[in-house]
This record gives sequence, structure tokens and C-alpha cells, in this order.
Amino acid sequence: MIELTKVSKWYGDFQVLSECSTTVARGDVVVVCGPSGSGKSTLIKTVNGLEPFQQGEIRVDGISVGAAQTDLPALRSKIGMVFQNFELFPHLSVRRNLTLAQVKVLGRSEMEATERGLKYLDRVGLLAHQDKYPSQLSGGQQQRVAIARALAMDPIAMLFDEPTSALDPEMIGEVLDVMVGLAQEGMTMMVVTHEMGFARKVADRIVFMDQGRIVEDTPKDEFFSTPRSRRAKEFLARII
Ligand code: ADP
Ligand code: MG
Repeated sequence: MIELTKVSKWYGDFQVLSECSTTVARGDVVVVCGPSGSGKSTLIKTVNGLEPFQQGEIRVDGISVGAAQTDLPALRSKIGMVFQNFELFPHLSVRRNLTLAQVKVLGRSEMEATERGLKYLDRVGLLAHQDKYPSQLSGGQQQRVAIARALAMDPIAMLFDEPTSALDPEMIGEVLDVMVGLAQEGMTMMVVTHEMGFARKVADRIVFMDQGRIVEDTPKDEFFSTPRSRRAKEFLARII
């Protein structure tokens, strides 16, 4: 579903990604972890074309992300993305947040968009909050709305960039629960997170990054029991 082949990217002279290769098969959950500044956010943003890259290739569902002829907005509409800071539209109600892109990007009618949006809002347990504005919700609730909004677009895959790292500890669980449910239903997911409990529960593989390189790309059990690189060992020792 997602295939990266020797992806490299520079900011001026600084190489932020060095020949990163990995694949996410349909229905798989790949957790991306590694020290701060190792390139995790940059990597995940290249997948839906939010960050351009200079070398290598990325294919999503067979479509080349970097190719000039690729319709990036169309591709992006098929890939759900959830960020650290919720990124809901602050001036729109929860319901409008859920329907806007469905209407504008997918051309759905207001009625259909509302029906689908509310279905996913119900699924994340927030149906009663549809008339509120984002500022009236807790961080955990906002992030669940952001996930529902992404799901309402019928994505073929979901990308998460540290979706719980800006949340108060007591709200992390409610967001992870939604993500675990999605994973168990077979959603293809690429998740940057340091929540190793989540990784242990649902990840198929762990990608460990250091200084712009993918230094490990291993089945979950192997990563936790016998990490190969010294950096991953140190990372696990600190985080668990
Ligand atoms: P991570 O998500 O693993 O913390 P990032 O992908 O955000 O890492 O950043 C990787 C590296 O690229 C960092 O050293 C960061 O300072 C640098 N970087 C990120 N964005 C930019 C940018 N727009 N211009 C220059 N350097 C950047
Ligand atoms: Mg990051």
C-alpha cells in the first residue's frame, strides 16, 4: 500500500532523510519511532506529499507521490493524516469540521457528508458534542474528532504523527483506544509514536530512525526482544 524506496531529502546542505526504504502492506500497522530530530515527521509527511523529497521514490496504492503528473490533492484526499496538534478548524463547529472536506473535496452532498461525519463521530464516542466548537472540547476529544474527520473521507491509509504527545496523560488512553480499534479493523496505518504499549499491542513492524536513516525495520516482537542497533537499545532502555 505504501512503498518508500531510497528516499532522500535535504534542507539546503542538511540531509534530513538518507535513503529511507520501507513498505507498509495493506492492513499493516507500522510504528515509526526514534529520537527527536531523527526525521520521523519529515518521513511521514513525504508519504502524502506534504514534504517534497529530492531522491528515491514513494508509491501509495501504486501512485508515485513525487511524479510531476500525480494529482497530489486527489492522492492526499485518500490518505488520512492526524497531527500532534489536532488542527481542527477553530471557527467551525465539530459537525462542520467533519463535513467540510467531504463536501469541498469529494463533492458529497451536505446530507451525505453529515450522515457519514456523524457516524464516525459516534464511533469515537462524541456524537453528543456535534454542535460544540473545538475550544469547548478537551485535547483528547479534539484529537478524536480529528480522527473521525479523517475517517469520514474513506481513507485507504492513515498517517499519525505523534497524535498523543500534546495530550495530558489522562487523555492519552482514549485516543489510543480509537487507534487500536482502527488497527484491529484492518486499517493500513503508519504511526509515529513513542507509546510503546500501543506498538506492542497492534504494530506489525517497528521502524526505528536515527539521524535521518532507518536503522531498524523489524517485526515488533524482534524489536522489543532483540533490538539490533545500539541506538535502538539505548532508546528502548530510556523509554520503557
Ligand atoms: P522528528 O519528527 O523525528 O523529531 P523532524 O522530521 O521534525 O524530526 O526533523 C528532522 C530534522 O530536520 C531536525 O534536525 C529538524 O531540525 C530538521 N528540520 C525539520 N524541518 C526543517 C525545515 N523546514 N528546515 C530545516 N530543517 C528542518
Ligand atoms: Mg516529529
